[in-house]
Amino acid sequence: MTSNYAEFDVPRDLKFKTHDLIRLGNFNCTAQLAAVYLKDVLEPPHQIVKANVELAFSVTPKDILVQGKISGQRNVQCARCLQEVRQDFSESFAETYSTKCEIIDIMYVVKQTLALTEEIRFLCKPDCKGLCAQCGKNLNEGPCHCTPENLSPFAVLKGKFK
Ligand SMILES: [Zn+2]
Ligand SMILES: [Zn+2]
Repeated sequence: MTSNYAEFDVPRDLKFKTHDLIRLGNFNCTAQLAAVYLKDVLEPPHQIVKANVELAFSVTPKDILVQGKISGQRNVQCARCLQEVRQDFSESFAETYSTKCEIIDIMYVVKQTLALTEEIRFLCKPDCKGLCAQCGKNLNEGPCHCTPENLSPFAVLKGKFK
């Protein structure tokens, strides 16, 4: 039997006491992650803005299966044009714990799941034009006034022989 356990206080740090879980049996709960737990999950300037966790516990005498869904919003920066983009995300995980453990630390798996979703090189769009190496203009907004000639290594020599 699965019940929604409203009277069970979900620990803010998601560290559940195993004997509480065994006492409760199968149940579902949701929790909003406090900002303090989201701060260091992604490499700056990427950042999780908010995250909500849904947990389903299945308890047997030997182990506890936890199935979770994390959804929220994150700020990511384009590796080419450095534009910040806010995007929704949703990830799920499943983890089995032995009932011999005293504490079941869900925060650990939540943070791990979030960290694994980070793209090393996020692009705001696949064909992002990036910034001009000369003037720093965002080339997605249109061309700049730097001419290709100025960018060539011969441009310097040309000036010398004038
Ligand atoms: Zn971009
Ligand atoms: Zn330019």
